[in-house]
This record gives sequence, structure tokens and C-alpha cells, in this order.
Amino acid sequence: MTGPARRERFPPWLKKSLPAGAAGRRVRDVVDELALKTVCRSALCPNIGECFHKGTATFLIMGPVCTRRCRFCAVAGGSGAPLEPDEPERIASAADRLGLSHVVVTSVTRDDLDDGGARHFARVIEALRRRTGATVEVLVPDFAGAEASVRTVVEAGPDVFNHNVETVERLYPAVRPGADYRRSLDVLAAAHDMDAALVTKSGMMVGLGETLEEVEGVFADLLDAHTAVVTVGQYLAPGRDHLDVQRFVEPGEFEVIERRALEMGFRAAAAAPFVRSSYCAAEVFRRGACHG
Ligand code: SF4
Repeated sequence: MTGPARRERFPPWLKKSLPAGAAGRRVRDVVDELALKTVCRSALCPNIGECFHKGTATFLIMGPVCTRRCRFCAVAGGSGAPLEPDEPERIASAADRLGLSHVVVTSVTRDDLDDGGARHFARVIEALRRRTGATVEVLVPDFAGAEASVRTVVEAGPDVFNHNVETVERLYPAVRPGADYRRSLDVLAAAHDMDAALVTKSGMMVGLGETLEEVEGVFADLLDAHTAVVTVGQYLAPGRDHLDVQRFVEPGEFEVIERRALEMGFRAAAAAPFVRSSYCAAEVFRRGACHG
């Protein structure tokens, strides 16, 4: 999600201090001791210092290698690794030791698995339910649009079902060549149809060349798919082989985007330069807003 590879200078609002300290070290230690992965590290998230300092992290399951090659993402592409049967218990153990009240779990895309990894997601949700009192947010891939996989995850009973559309439909061929905008909307709509009480959530990046009208078009499509929560953040190129940033969106523009999302009907919205799909996830889930 971020990186020093871009030649442009970052504008002042994208300079972030990294709080260190015992809380951050504790997250790192527990994650390392249990041989877990976080998307915070794998995706080079700019919020890692802040989130680890607050004692939060987003677990990345099903290996460090993604079977797709999206042009915005820092996670390595290639062949999927074998699933680790004890990973769900290790995630639950980490959440318990860190005293997390809201756990976010995401994965790489695993097009090589018959269910896209849905059963593994379900086992993680079940382990967290059994061993912690935390609310559970899953940020899932599109499962190649397989409704059965969406049902497997929904029936495991997460509190939040998150699937990112990432960008506007026009930019999919350049940004997410292996994905399909309408399929992602269908995944969100299917999750809502299976359990209307489930909070559904999606996120997108700006700064890739989209217009405000197109962002509003995505909001309208997400609302049609009964999505309750939306997040919007600045795209930052992870390296030289990734898509260039087209524009640094100013903080005031993010305020307009967030206001517009709420006016259009989302139950909660978070839009700011450093907002990522899992940023402030507990706060957005409980209070409907992210206050940084
Ligand atoms: S925003 Fe999400 S991915 Fe980034 S550091 Fe925070 S919890 Fe991790």
C-alpha cells in the first residue's frame, strides 16, 4: 500500500510518524511467536506503527502468496502454499493473548482451492468464537463469485463481512485485471441476502485516476448491493512495478467524499488519506466512524 518507490514527493499530509513502544513490540512478538502473518506487514501498510501501538493488527491467512497479481498490491503473487490446519487456533491464541475486542482476518486470493479458502475462513471464525469474546470481521476475496463459498463464510457467523471493490469499474482492467467489478458487488449482495443482520462493508482507493462522479457511482452500486459501511483511502504505490499514483487527493476532498457517502445512505463511512479497509475497524464497527 505504500513505499518509497514513487519519484514524487509526498505532500505534507502523507507524512506519518511511526509510534514505537512496548505495545507495538508486543503485537510483533505474539505474531512472530505464533508464526502468523499480518497484512499490515505483507502489504507494507503505512499505519503499521499506529495500529500495532494501539494493539491491533489484521491477520493474513492462507499463506503469503496470492494467486492473482493486482497492480496496486504489495503482496507477492505466485502459487498458493498448502493450508496450515492449526492456523485457525493460532489466530485465536494471538487474539486472546493480545486481548483484542475486534479481530480482522483477511487472506490472499486462492483461486487454486476448490472453495477459494472459504472453509478455512469458517474455521478461523469458529476458533475465534470458541476462544475469545471478540467481534470478528472478515475481509474476503471474491471466491471467483462462488455463492457456496460466500455461504460457507456467512454461516460461520462473522459480525462484519468485508469485500473490497478497490476502484471504479472503468479502472478494473488496469488495477484488478483478474477481478470483475460486478462480481464483487454480487458477492456483497449475496452475503446480505444470506443474512440481513450481517454488517457488510467495502473499501476503495482513490488517486488512481477516478473522478468524484465515478466514486459516487461506486457508492450507489454498493448501496444497491446493501453494503452498510464504506472506507476510502489514498492509493500509494508499493514499488516501481506497481501502478503509479495519478493524484494525491487532498484531506478536504476526503471530507467531501465521507460526507457524500453518509448523505447517500451508508450507515458508516471513513474516508481519509491513510484510511485502509481495516483501519479503525473496531471503531467504525462500534461507533460508525473513525476518529484516527
Ligand atoms: S490499517 Fe489495517 S493493515 Fe494497516 S496496519 Fe492497521 S490493521 Fe494493519
